Amino acid sequence: MSDTLHQLSERFMSLTGSKPDGVWSAPGRVNLIGEHTDYNEGFVLPFAIDRRTRAAVGLRADGVIRVTSTFDNTSVELPLSGLDAARSAGEIVGWSAYPLGVAWALGQHGADLTTLPGADIIIDSTVPVGAGLSSSAAIESSVALALNDLWSLGFSREQLAKAGQLAENDVVGAPTGIMDQSASLLGATDSAVFLDCRSLDVTVIPLGLAHAELSILVMDTRVSHSHATGGYAERRASCEAGASAMGVSSLRDVSVSDLDRARELLDDVTFRRIRHVVTENQRVLDTVRTLNEDGPLAIGALLDASHVSLRDDFEISIPELDLAVETARAHGAIGARMTGGGFGGAAIALVPHARVPDVESAVRDAFAAKGFTEPVTFTVTPSTGAERNDIDGSRD
Ligand code: ADP
Ligand code: MG
Repeated sequence: MSDTLHQLSERFMSLTGSKPDGVWSAPGRVNLIGEHTDYNEGFVLPFAIDRRTRAAVGLRADGVIRVTSTFDNTSVELPLSGLDAARSAGEIVGWSAYPLGVAWALGQHGADLTTLPGADIIIDSTVPVGAGLSSSAAIESSVALALNDLWSLGFSREQLAKAGQLAENDVVGAPTGIMDQSASLLGATDSAVFLDCRSLDVTVIPLGLAHAELSILVMDTRVSHSHATGGYAERRASCEAGASAMGVSSLRDVSVSDLDRARELLDDVTFRRIRHVVTENQRVLDTVRTLNEDGPLAIGALLDASHVSLRDDFEISIPELDLAVETARAHGAIGARMTGGGFGGAAIALVPHARVPDVESAVRDAFAAKGFTEPVTFTVTPSTGAERNDIDGSRD
């Protein structure tokens, strides 16, 4: 269970002896479409979800930053001026690397960590960890927005997203793109975030799910993708090899009309890897156009096609993901696809509100019939991005 805002504030009081200066929160995310396109400088279309990480933050006079999480109730503290040395020495480890990494990254972006006041930060979250919903971006974005406000840094949300990514890349040590932080910081109610991973331009795209009475159902297979590092690296390498054989710096510069030439130049496996990325980029563009012109009821076939491409061309699906997608489609979903890096994790389905219970029980039954681990299913609502919350008000 997670704290209410009031409980979080009380927890802060008992740790520090005073009230926090504020509470900031940031959501996890789900990627609607655009898989394995980010590192090919392509397009993605994630949305912020209604599961959030909250950071209660108060300034302190001594230049020390202390982070605590309801995760394990331990605290880690360091002088702000010592963050850079601690990072170089590999001393910032475990979950504290996310919030401390953000403070360090703000310094890299120009904040003067030698003169800023310190901060006490307590973190609490309703984003499940490691379920592909980006609890990591939620913690980074809540802390980034809080420190930006309290330290009056004046960074834009786009800059804060870059700081979150820098923390994750250079302090946590995970080679991730900027999609998750962009969704968490720039998401809006009932909207998706269309991100061009080359220019980093962001456009908020209304989804219109509420009006169309559609839900997004997450079907978590509970198959861990942690063993997939080899497969992921291999896919990235195929993309790079394919791009260089095509004479371009990234697959962003290959279009659907170039695929005939690609088929002649490339071996079958590399060709299919590339065809996934190239057609997926086109599907993201088509999804954005379809949402704008015809609304969400018309995007089902694009979600389905994305799954088929990930399954057959990119070959990163697993039987559990295929079963979740097929079962959802057979029981009323208007479109469904695996989401995330592949080899495990979750699928999503776009489902009329009234059909959600049917789809959930059909997926559970289908998994049981195959002897698969029982899946966890839940709906997510596209929600607002990172924001400051009112401790004394009712936004709880
Ligand atoms: P995902 O982002 O898919 O949930 P990651 O491995 O990228 O998975 O990030 C999860 C890590 O983020 C956790 O192992 C932990 O280190 C950190 N984290 C996430 N939420 C919290 C939290 N509420 N408190 C402390 N650390 C957290
Ligand atoms: Mg993550």
